[in-house]
Amino acid sequence: MQSINTVRADFPFLTQTMNGHPLIYLDNAATTQKPWPVLQALRQYYTQENVNVHRGGYARAAATTAEYEGVRMQVARLINASSAREIVFTKGTTEALNWAAFGGAVSLKPQDEILVTVMEHHSNLVPWQILAARTGAVLRFVELTTAGTLDWVDFQRKLSTRTRVVAVSAASNVLGTVNPVAAIARTAHEVGALVVVDAAQAIGHMPVDVQKWGADFVAFSGHKMLGPTGIGVLWGQRAVLERMHPLEYGGEMISAVTRNETTFKEVPWCFEGGTQNIAGVIGLGKAIRYLEQQGIATIQAREQRLAARLAAGLRALPQVTVYGPVSGEQRNGVVAFNVGSLHAHDVATVLDAQGTAVRAGHHCAQVLMDHLGVPGTVRASVAFYNTTAEVDALITQVERTEAFFKKHGMG
Ligand code: PLP
Repeated sequence: MQSINTVRADFPFLTQTMNGHPLIYLDNAATTQKPWPVLQALRQYYTQENVNVHRGGYARAAATTAEYEGVRMQVARLINASSAREIVFTKGTTEALNWAAFGGAVSLKPQDEILVTVMEHHSNLVPWQILAARTGAVLRFVELTTAGTLDWVDFQRKLSTRTRVVAVSAASNVLGTVNPVAAIARTAHEVGALVVVDAAQAIGHMPVDVQKWGADFVAFSGHKMLGPTGIGVLWGQRAVLERMHPLEYGGEMISAVTRNETTFKEVPWCFEGGTQNIAGVIGLGKAIRYLEQQGIATIQAREQRLAARLAAGLRALPQVTVYGPVSGEQRNGVVAFNVGSLHAHDVATVLDAQGTAVRAGHHCAQVLMDHLGVPGTVRASVAFYNTTAEVDALITQVERTEAFFKKHGMG
């Protein structure tokens, strides 16, 4: 990785002030900032390359189509997919998971079971809840250990030949927990279940190897890995994608149309109906290149170091509760906490006034909040472009917040 100052110079967003203080951006789990190569690629696309893909017969159209399809290959290499044809471009993780649920790759009957975990983001829970309600299938939850990791014994207890789907996040957007995806997929496949992985908080933060994971579907968003919003990926095993039907019908996803019937393009193009987010795809390509230049393993080590420092600093404050596993190995860069009995939003407001951007609330994980017995938490999430000084500043700000509210008889 380049020096931290060189890296930060690539992210114009980070040079701002907020409420009169230098901005400390620690909401990277919500979305990451974009480096110049991504921003310049978007400008370049709209100023020089703006044509539609897969249809124009002229040179510019062919070049932009080649660039678009080149990014599909880049994504395949990034996640070690066996073929670029296993990469479907979507709007983001949410759309990708909805396709996995409703695309017909799995057909359910009453009493079949869908197994999710208590730590799932609503994106990897609500679609399964709806699918269960429509089919009469039963939604079951794998519980967590007191350390905030997946309870393997409970997973094995709940997995059975009735289990048709196992849907799990690779990394939690609240607890920071990194799940043993390969072991989950192997075990779930023993009972013939379809394995769906929400990799929204893993991609760009740790090496993702879909062949090593051995799942059936993996979903992620471009905007959480330095790319633009509105672009994401559904990776699927080729045979599983072949079983899926498109969820959108119309232009460009067809092979031939007569008055009475239509034949469709092959996988994955049959899933990309209508004009796609071409700029998003091109920006995603530049984001991948940037991440690879920094080195994903190096990024992971740096983020784990920053998160471990933050978690340890916060844990040392008497009133602060930090959620999730202690060990750096099982964590990503997300650190959720509460300060005494203070409302998470109040804490976030005080931090905001000091220039620090964190998220407060249920983080689209209300089942997890219920499990933790809190209405919400504060969540700080680091990226590799954050500094040790920023992490230390947050710890000091939380300490001051704690003291301030205590002095005023609150918290
Ligand atoms: N899954 C996890 C674990 C997430 O953290 C998020 C976003 O915060 C999502 C899914 C949804 O991603 P998107 O809003 O990009 O579709």
